[in-house]
Amino acid sequence: MAGAGESANVLLVTVDCMRRDRLSAYGHPSRTTPFLDSLIERGALHCTSAHATAPWTAPSVATLLTGLYPHNHRTGLLSGEPRNLSRDDLPTKLPDGVPLLQDMLTGHSAASFVTVWSAALPARGRLGHLMADESASRVTKRALAWMSAQDASPFACWVHLRGGHDPLAVPRGLRTAFGPVDYRRARKWDFTRRDADLLTPAFLAYRSERERLYDAAILSADASIRALWEGLGDLRHRTILVVTADHGEEMWEHRDEEADGFADPRGLAGVGHGHSLFQVLLLVPLIFSGPGIPSGAVKRNCSLVDVVPTVLGALGAEAPALDGVSLLRDPGERPVTAQGIAYGHEKRAVVLGDSKLVVSPGDDYERVFRLGEGRLEEGTVEDAAFLEKMRPLLPPDAVASGERVEATAEIEEHLRDLGYLE
Ligand SMILES: [Zn+2]
Repeated sequence: MAGAGESANVLLVTVDCMRRDRLSAYGHPSRTTPFLDSLIERGALHCTSAHATAPWTAPSVATLLTGLYPHNHRTGLLSGEPRNLSRDDLPTKLPDGVPLLQDMLTGHSAASFVTVWSAALPARGRLGHLMADESASRVTKRALAWMSAQDASPFACWVHLRGGHDPLAVPRGLRTAFGPVDYRRARKWDFTRRDADLLTPAFLAYRSERERLYDAAILSADASIRALWEGLGDLRHRTILVVTADHGEEMWEHRDEEADGFADPRGLAGVGHGHSLFQVLLLVPLIFSGPGIPSGAVKRNCSLVDVVPTVLGALGAEAPALDGVSLLRDPGERPVTAQGIAYGHEKRAVVLGDSKLVVSPGDDYERVFRLGEGRLEEGTVEDAAFLEKMRPLLPPDAVASGERVEATAEIEEHLRDLGYLE
C-alpha cells in the first residue's frame, strides 16, 4: 500500500496502565471503550497480541517513541540490586544520540501533552513543546488547541493519559458507570502486602469496587481519546491516529507466585506494575487508524517497538534501522521481548508463538509458560530441550549506564503523588 505521504499528521495517544483485557474493544464484557470499539468496527488496524517492552512507564514510553527495545534505547533503567524506584534509584535519561519519532520526520512540528510525570521525564528537553502533569481535560483541550494551530506544517503530537494509574482519578460523572463505588476507598490500592488475606469478604468487596472504578477510568480515557479525535474536525482526514498503553496493570492474578518467587524491596506483591513480567502487565491494546493504514487485525505477536516503524511506513517515510517492524504487512512469527524492572531483581522475558520464557537470575527463577486463552500464562512447560531453544532469544541485559534523572524536590513530589514514595 502506498504511504499517506510525509505531510500527514501523527497523533499518538498512550494510556497509562491500560491492560488489554479491560477494553470492550478487546472483549471485556463491560462497555469500557465505546470510541475504540467504533474505530475497530470501522476497520482500524488492531493488534490482538501486542506486548509492552517493559512493565512500567519510563522504559516502555521510550520504546514507543524510539522503536527500540530497552537494552538499545537504554532509557528509564534502574540499577539498584534489587531495583527500587525511589529518590535513590532514579531512571536513566534518553541518551543524546538516540532519535525519537519526531527526529525521524522531516518538517513535522512536535509537541507532547502528558498527565503522568514519569512518562516525560527521561526525554524532557527532547519532546518539543511539552505540557506535563495536568488533568486529562486540560491536556486534551491544550493538545487540540496546539494541533489546530499547526496549519502551516504537519504535526506529530503525543498525548499521554493517566488512564488506570493509581491513585485512580476519574471525573465525578463517570465514577459509578459500572456500579456503586466508594471513590475515596477504591481509588487507592489496598490489600497490597505479600501476606494480605485474599479470602475475606472485605477483600472481595474491595476488589469488586476497585475493578469497577478501574473500568470507569478506562471509560474516561476512551472519552478523552474521542474528544481529541473528533475535535480535530477536517484534520482527521490527514491524521494518523495511534492508540496504545505503556503497559498493563496487575490485580492480584499472580500474588502468590510473586510472593513466593520474587524479592520486592517494598514488601508488596500482586498489584500495580513495575514488579514482574506476567502477561497482565505486558499485553496492551494497539490500534492504528487513518491515511496509509490498512484495515484488519494483526494476530501475530507484536510489540511496542513496532509503533514507530508502522507510523513511518504509513507516512511513506524512510525508516532507520530499528528493533521493530512495520505492521502494515504481516510481520511473521518472531520473538518479542520485555525487561526493565522497577521493583525487585531484573527480569527478562521472551514470547515466541504460544510460549514464553521468564528469567529472574537474582531470584533463581526460570520458567517456560504456555500461553492459552486470552494469551495469558496457562501452566508451565517442563521440557529441557525447549528451554535450550528459548534461552538464546532472551534480550541482552539492559544496563543502566547513562546519565540519570536528577533528584529534585519537584520529582520527589511527583513520585509521592503517584504512590512511589511512602
Ligand atoms: Zn505507566
